[in-house]
Amino acid sequence: MNNAKITVATAWLDGCSGCHMSFLDMDQRLVELAQLIDIVYSPLVDAKELPETVDVGILEGSISSEDDLEKAQQFRKHCKLLISLGDCAVTGNVPALRNHFKLADVLNRAYHENVTLQPQIPTRGVPALRVPVKPIHGEVAVDVFIPGCPPSAEAIWYVLSELIAGRMPEPSTVTRFGA
Ligand code: SF4
Repeated sequence: MNNAKITVATAWLDGCSGCHMSFLDMDQRLVELAQLIDIVYSPLVDAKELPETVDVGILEGSISSEDDLEKAQQFRKHCKLLISLGDCAVTGNVPALRNHFKLADVLNRAYHENVTLQPQIPTRGVPALRVPVKPIHGEVAVDVFIPGCPPSAEAIWYVLSELIAGRMPEPSTVTRFGA
C-alpha cells in the first residue's frame, strides 16, 4: 500500500458497536484521517453497498448468525486486507458465552422465561443463529488482529496510519485483551 488515499469499509456483526465508538474516539485525528482514507461502506456513513474492491475491511463482532457469516465472506471476498477489530471479532468474547449452553435453552431463556407479555421465539425477519459462535478467523482468513474491549482509539489510529504509510502494523505493541 502506498501513500495514496486508501478505501476502507467497516461493519459490525455480533458486537455492541463499542469498537466503532472507539473508532470515533480518534476525535480530531478523524479530520486528518479523512484526508488519507475514503470510508466507502460503514454504519458510520451513508454508503451501504460494498464496492467490488476495497483496500481495507474492518469487522467488529463475532460470527453468530447466517447474516454475520455472509457479511464476513463478502468482506473477505472484496477487501484486500481484512482487520478483526476487538475481542468479539478476535476471540468470540461476550457473544461466544452462549456456546456454553444449548441454543434452545438460550432462546427459551430470552424469549419465554424473561418475558411476561406474549412470549414467543421470533422466526421471521431475524437471521438464523449459528452454533457455535465463532471469531471472524473461525470462518474467513484475517490479516490483522486488534484485540481489546474495545481497542483504544490510539490502537486503531496506529494500525490505520501504518497501513497508510505502506507498512504492515504490529498491533500487539499497542493492544491488550479486555478493557
Ligand atoms: S469487543 Fe467489546 S466493545 Fe467491541 S463489540 Fe465486543 S463487547 Fe463491544
